[in-house]
Amino acid sequence: MNHSATSRAPGRVELLGNHTDYNEGVVLSAAINYAVTARGETLPERRARVNSEFSSEAVDVALDGLDLLAGESAWANYSLGVAVMLREENYQLGGFSVQLESNLPAGAGLSSSAALEVATARLLMKLYSLKIDPLHLAKICRRAENDFVGVKCGLLDQVSSIFGKKGQAVYLDCRSEEIDNIPLPPDTALLVFHCGVAHRLVGGEYNERREQCFAAAAALGVPALRDVTGEQLEAARGRLDPLIYRRAAHIVGENERVFAGIEALRRGDGKAFGELMFISHESSRTNFENSTPELDALVEIARDEPGVYGSRLTGGGFGGATISLVERSRVEEVARGIDAKYTARTGNRGRAYPCESADGAE
Ligand code: ADP
Ligand code: MG
Repeated sequence: MNHSATSRAPGRVELLGNHTDYNEGVVLSAAINYAVTARGETLPERRARVNSEFSSEAVDVALDGLDLLAGESAWANYSLGVAVMLREENYQLGGFSVQLESNLPAGAGLSSSAALEVATARLLMKLYSLKIDPLHLAKICRRAENDFVGVKCGLLDQVSSIFGKKGQAVYLDCRSEEIDNIPLPPDTALLVFHCGVAHRLVGGEYNERREQCFAAAAALGVPALRDVTGEQLEAARGRLDPLIYRRAAHIVGENERVFAGIEALRRGDGKAFGELMFISHESSRTNFENSTPELDALVEIARDEPGVYGSRLTGGGFGGATISLVERSRVEEVARGIDAKYTARTGNRGRAYPCESADGAE
């Protein structure tokens, strides 16, 4: 008899700690109340069937020897990749069908890809009674994206989708893989605002920033920028190329802001946390140069809206979205205010996603 199950995995938003992952640094995020749901059942035949309301192309492939799909069906690679990685690790997996539903916008920087992987993984765990430790599960999902789909991403997306907690942020140390939950200020909401302009120069700019960070670490004689304090960086400033210095200043500053942010959260000080978010954005704008005029406009507008504690670009940058920490009772009002002013100022149509922090995958 076919066995059926359902799973759900949320998206996430980065709150502080921008581009710190590949510098072996620290980051704060939150899982959000937008998620991918996967319903499915075991199949007697060794096939993988994947459907999504996202696409009219249904996928039905042999489970043995799964290959990367191209073209219209490429979205299914995130799910298939999870099956591939589970099998590589010798988990006993038979045929399955999965139907995906989502209210998580794809490509908006809210990590729909990780949610898709985690939802699939949780579903397969239920269908085939697999026991996998949560951190190990995050790594399996990351490998599906890195090694099967072929997209470089850090562990944060999958960790957030698995370790998120309602009312709490997720802390990840990308070097030690320590994970913790830190309470967010009560009565706050998270407002994601997508700038409505496609990512610019994706890939090229991102890889260039990585290389510049690695060059900075090499010039400073450390394995990664994680190993440098603000004081050490200032002491070495004179012998660094000015551009490399600024790139390093962003990463070093972000790591320090994550630790300061945790202290602020532990004190319940939303204002102090928000101020760190504004400083983070300013550092993106001037040091890391991964902001855009649209993201700058969104942060400037947010700063003047009553009820906003802080605002910054979130994720890679070069387009995408901002995240603001907002008084919960005002979030709809703030979203409308930013929307109107942003369009008036830039001529672009943005899109607001008022969010709450949420529990990780079931
Ligand atoms: P992000 O993770 O920031 O949303 P990505 O580019 O990493 O952006 O992942 C988006 C991709 O994930 C989409 O192009 C699509 O292939 C896949 N995807 C996201 N949501 C769904 C869904 N509901 N059904 C099928 N595929 C999806
Ligand atoms: Mg993604």
